[in-house]
Amino acid sequence: MTELKQAIEQRLIPWFLKNKRSMPWRTKRTPYRVWISELMLQQTRVDQVIPYFNRFMKRFPSLKSLADASQEDVLTMWQGLGYYSRARNLHAAARIIQDERAGRFPESHEEILRLPGVGSYTAAAIGSLAFNMDLAVVDGNVIRVLSRVNAYPRDSGSTAARRELQQIADALLPEGQAGDYNEAMMELGATICLPRNPLCGECPLSSVCLANKSERPMDYPVKAPKKKTPHIVVGAAVVRNRAGKILIAQRRDKDMLGGLWEFPGGKQEPEETIQQCIQRELQEELGIDVEIGEFLITVKHAYSHFTMDMHTYFARIRKGRPRPLECKDYQWVRWEQLRSVPYSKADLYVIEALEEYFKKGGS
Ligand code: SF4
Repeated sequence: MTELKQAIEQRLIPWFLKNKRSMPWRTKRTPYRVWISELMLQQTRVDQVIPYFNRFMKRFPSLKSLADASQEDVLTMWQGLGYYSRARNLHAAARIIQDERAGRFPESHEEILRLPGVGSYTAAAIGSLAFNMDLAVVDGNVIRVLSRVNAYPRDSGSTAARRELQQIADALLPEGQAGDYNEAMMELGATICLPRNPLCGECPLSSVCLANKSERPMDYPVKAPKKKTPHIVVGAAVVRNRAGKILIAQRRDKDMLGGLWEFPGGKQEPEETIQQCIQRELQEELGIDVEIGEFLITVKHAYSHFTMDMHTYFARIRKGRPRPLECKDYQWVRWEQLRSVPYSKADLYVIEALEEYFKKGGS
């Protein structure tokens, strides 16, 4: 461990300071910018996050501007980034900081941890990067590096292993250099110690890395066999009225993708055709009886815990007036105005298909 700790201080951190990639949150490092970037980076790649971060900062340059915004505005800036509870949580946290702390960002680890949506990883990241607290972060990249340099033998997804890897990361942290140490470990995992084909020849830790010495880096991190990802089939409808307006519904806050808007529909039940599924779902969600028309698009999308095929059809109301029975709200909009509210990625594909359809003269 001493040898590894030395290599981190003498080789890894200098390598990082020389080679670090340029990222917008690495310049003008304020607690607010670090916090937003860390939330965006959860489960999302750096190259995807950069344009979102820049747009978000332009729209909400300060914590106050974020606290003053509506939830819908925040979700609109987040749309397409996924895991929308992050956006709802950061909005709620901004309001707490604004109302209860006069806009001053919490400066202790315990206070940061109390913010909605901030777990131990994010608190350590904010604490170390914004306030240089001696806290080690352990994300997927760090797990890979630590597993390889130590030839760590346990299933890295288990709680016991996570705890142990956190302890290893804590023990390796050079006092007073937490920010550089954390970023260096993450950068090494993202650019050199790659999941497939790690570039051991270019690695500043190669001489102390046990996986490299045994020439078996790909054996680490050890992972238990994956369970099969469930697949669901969903039916959704683009319901149009006589004025040509389209019916959209807003998901309830407590549901997955809460607060976002959608083309109404839901999961297909066994023994049901997709048309029957759409009719049942629209009856349950909005209290309307619809007639199914032309097919529009099948959207295939992968979420973290399941994959989905969403078959989307045009439809018209046969009976009933929409009521928000199993949704938060609904509205009729012209197709040109569909993008004025936030949607999940799958529904954005439907909007693209619709725009194409209308531009080609569909009626
Ligand atoms: S030597 Fe290879 S396996 Fe070991 S940390 Fe470096 S890149 Fe990863």
